[in-house]
Amino acid sequence: MLAAGGALTAQASVFDRSPATSEASELPESDGADDPLAEREQDTERGDRGDRSGSESGRDREDSGEARGAAPDESPSPEPEPEPEPEPEPTESESEPEPEPEPSETTEEQPDWVHPMPDGRTTSCFGQRWGTLHAGVDLAYPNGGPIHAAGAGTVTHAGWVFGGYGISVVIDHQDGHFTHYAHASETRVSVGDTVEPGEVIALEGSTGDSTGPHLHFEVHQGMWNQVEPTQWMSNRGVNIDGC
Ligand SMILES: [Zn+2]
Repeated sequence: MLAAGGALTAQASVFDRSPATSEASELPESDGADDPLAEREQDTERGDRGDRSGSESGRDREDSGEARGAAPDESPSPEPEPEPEPEPEPTESESEPEPEPEPSETTEEQPDWVHPMPDGRTTSCFGQRWGTLHAGVDLAYPNGGPIHAAGAGTVTHAGWVFGGYGISVVIDHQDGHFTHYAHASETRVSVGDTVEPGEVIALEGSTGDSTGPHLHFEVHQGMWNQVEPTQWMSNRGVNIDGC
């Protein structure tokens, strides 16, 4: 099969160059048995070629195949036909293009993590304050501003459930991390809700131990193991200025 295809290709390339004189020397010896057929084939092909512009190799092979099949009818011959060569196999499998990647379902790229209150002004950072750990970052904004889920997850707490935190929301991000949003004036989600990044989960306020409207934002690496939240968010591509 391969040898036949190769020979065919070789013949086609000889034909492309066309001088009949070179044929004898350039054709492989093993094709000797095919020579009479090849001669006829060459004639047929030359005849065809007048109508056809392309010298593309795929086309040439196709032409040879047709010519080979047509040859016996066009010039009946008493000679025993040489064993017909198999039709050249189409080489689609080699040249078949890779399947195109599926286009993304969403045309707008949604970030996985977002700022919980993009217009808030940082007024206090994570760290020791007055002898105790301030376990989050404070973001001040006029009362009632929207508080956004920093990332996708499930609401595990919503309401006045943690004393001094006032009205707050906790989101479980399903990777061992939780985010906690405190001192809200009201919640917009309930326990068990699934939230998307940026979804409004509460409105900012000053409930609990708070002296003025702000969002107290915490990140827990395991519930109640608070870590510095601005670096944590920065690692996820979100910049919270001021710490
Ligand atoms: Zn705070």
